[in-house]
Amino acid sequence: MSVIQDVIAMVQEKDAGQPEFHQAVGEVLATLEPTVDRHPEFVHAKIYERIVVPDRVLMFRVPWVDDDGEVQVNRGFRVQFNNAIGPYKGGLRFHPSVNLGIIKFLGFEQIFKNSLTTLPMGGAKGGSDFDPKGKSDMEVMRFCQAFMRELYRYIGPDLDVPAGDIGVGGREIGYLFGYYKKLVNEHHCVLTGKGLEYGGSLIRPEATGYGSVYFAAEMLATRSIDVRGTAAAVSGSGNVAQYTVEKLLQLGATVTTMSDSNGTIVDEQGFDREKLDYILQLKNLRRGRISEYSERYKVPYFPTKSVWDVIREQGLRVDLAFPSAHENEIDAANAAALVNSGCCCVSEGANMPSTLEAIKVFQENNVLYGPAKAANAGGVATSGLEMSQNSMRLSWSREEVDQRLQGIMKNIHRSCLQAAETYGRKGDYLMGANIAGFVKVANSMLAYGIV
Ligand code: NDP
Repeated sequence: MSVIQDVIAMVQEKDAGQPEFHQAVGEVLATLEPTVDRHPEFVHAKIYERIVVPDRVLMFRVPWVDDDGEVQVNRGFRVQFNNAIGPYKGGLRFHPSVNLGIIKFLGFEQIFKNSLTTLPMGGAKGGSDFDPKGKSDMEVMRFCQAFMRELYRYIGPDLDVPAGDIGVGGREIGYLFGYYKKLVNEHHCVLTGKGLEYGGSLIRPEATGYGSVYFAAEMLATRSIDVRGTAAAVSGSGNVAQYTVEKLLQLGATVTTMSDSNGTIVDEQGFDREKLDYILQLKNLRRGRISEYSERYKVPYFPTKSVWDVIREQGLRVDLAFPSAHENEIDAANAAALVNSGCCCVSEGANMPSTLEAIKVFQENNVLYGPAKAANAGGVATSGLEMSQNSMRLSWSREEVDQRLQGIMKNIHRSCLQAAETYGRKGDYLMGANIAGFVKVANSMLAYGIV
């Protein structure tokens, strides 16, 4: 067995009961096979064995009091996976499905994603099984304060800088940062995704969605295809989905789908500015359900169905797909349906939204497949730009941040293609992203000796 297969088997044995982590390790390591022959020094220093074990895992109790005066107890996590190339960086997820395996998969992926951005950031992830849905503002605030009451000991501007993810948006970052500031009595960059008034960066809310479209545009350009005039499907209706739709509309695509955890809407006319503003208001202020859109605009709503189920069952035509909700939302059957519907490009806004079998379908059918760690890296890259602006005590304009974001997405695209070609798999974005992200981190680990 190769060293890669040994490490995958070791993770499955030692980290039992963490299927998402196994999936992420399997996906990344399988594509690193060509690095083994070329870098015997990595094998000798056991870099492959070391990189799958986090620097440290923090798990803690989060007790808080709900509006009825009842004590509630949640689980808190922070996995500081690897800081070889910079301080730990990665989001916080608040969702009932959160467990150690999910946070480890996200933290592991984050190592390579952050490396790809070319900014000096290590990989981490955290969160809680707290469900913000249906909670009052005061309950969310009390929970965030209780979470930070423990987390503040382990983070810092040169140590670990968390950000948002599912269930953690501007409101939650405000409560988390406000409480950190109260505890530590210092106003420094310990979180990104902050409000503009207190240290946030312009374009940070838009960055993941915009970046995913910029990455798709780069992939399409290799086949001389323009985004203008294409039909696009987007899943989710949260932060990433909203700004993916906005950028697609700006570039002249027609976008017909959005979803939430209850179901999917299809608007065959396509969204426009006014409809998107309605969705932003519905989701970000009223915190309502996407089904309300179908009542307001009289369009079909498919309860319990994902966007990809609806495309398969209704035979919708799709040129571009932007999965932007959650992990494993596209399986092999839905990937095959996308191929049949004419889809030529998949850009992953969400983390690990395609199963391993779905990825195989895309690659075998010559679909331009942009893996999450490249396609959605615009979010963390702009968080890196927020850190830079905070350190310099100045704020760049909207245009300046957007230009830097576009430049970073172009560079990531170029690095993926270069690494894929160098290691013998021309055009394979998955292998290119994993190898380009890995080699830099591995070389840094090597330089430090055995630590
Ligand atoms: P949000 O919480 O803003 O939105 C998440 C969206 O996905 C919501 O529409 C939510 O529906 C839906 N969703 C979540 N879980 C499920 C589920 N199990 N089944 C069906 N729908 C679900 O999160 P983000 O937009 O920030 O994150 C979306 C994805 O993008 C995640 O994979 C995240 O890790 C990834 N990502 C986010 C970045 C960021 O900058 N925010 C950066 C890089 C990646 P509902 O409202 O019903 O829960």
